[in-house]
Amino acid sequence: MLRRPIVIANWKMNKLPSEVKRYIAEISPKLAVYPHVDAVLAGQDVLLNAMVTAAKGTAVEIGAENMYWQDKGAYTGETSPAALADLGISRVIIGHSERRNYFRETDEMVNLKTLAALRNGLSPIIAIDEAVQLESLNDHAHWIVNQVVESLKGVTHEEMGRLMLAYEPTAAIGSGQAMGPDAAQKSLRVIRQTVADMFDQDVADHVRVLYGGSVKPANAYELLKQPDIDGVLVGDAALDAATFIELISLA
Ligand code: PGA
Repeated sequence: MLRRPIVIANWKMNKLPSEVKRYIAEISPKLAVYPHVDAVLAGQDVLLNAMVTAAKGTAVEIGAENMYWQDKGAYTGETSPAALADLGISRVIIGHSERRNYFRETDEMVNLKTLAALRNGLSPIIAIDEAVQLESLNDHAHWIVNQVVESLKGVTHEEMGRLMLAYEPTAAIGSGQAMGPDAAQKSLRVIRQTVADMFDQDVADHVRVLYGGSVKPANAYELLKQPDIDGVLVGDAALDAATFIELISLA
């Protein structure tokens, strides 16, 4: 298999430290039934220690939802990639639409964070959004291409093997209205083609590209069936452990 399917839960700012152990205990034995699927849980910083501890010895991978782009220093309140790596975190979401929209993260910041994550041995999940009302299919493709190009500046061929891209149209996030599978496939194809243009076909064939935005069991299968959709990044639906496992079973 060229690209392993993956389901990533993005808990956002929803869970409490006291809820972590139970969730992971519920999903981890069930994951053994689906060894071909990668399972990642991303949580806010204050949960990460508990998440890493609970996931030890299981197939669950733990990711952060954000980080700063400096390795260390006087940046009060920020989280360094070095600290995440030291804690045993393997992945980090970068440039989520909520970071871009509420916290004014720019393409340049996303690029700096991507490079910092790679430098510290973390695997970035770079989120590509669609924050504007785009007039035509051309605008739409141009917007996506631009974000991919800007976020991957300075990334090497070798490092491409450690990152993934997640396409998350802003209108679909948290709205209950996922993008249709055909439209999502078209956007993901544009992303993969952009990677091929920037690097080469082999890199593009191997990089995992995910869809995110109101994914739930009712629509996951059709989305995951698309040739360029390798996995899903899931918010609301993945807050429930049983639903997370259901999504894993569909991948
Ligand atoms: P949602 O969130 O599944 O609740 O739409 C997805 C995301 O923002 O990653």
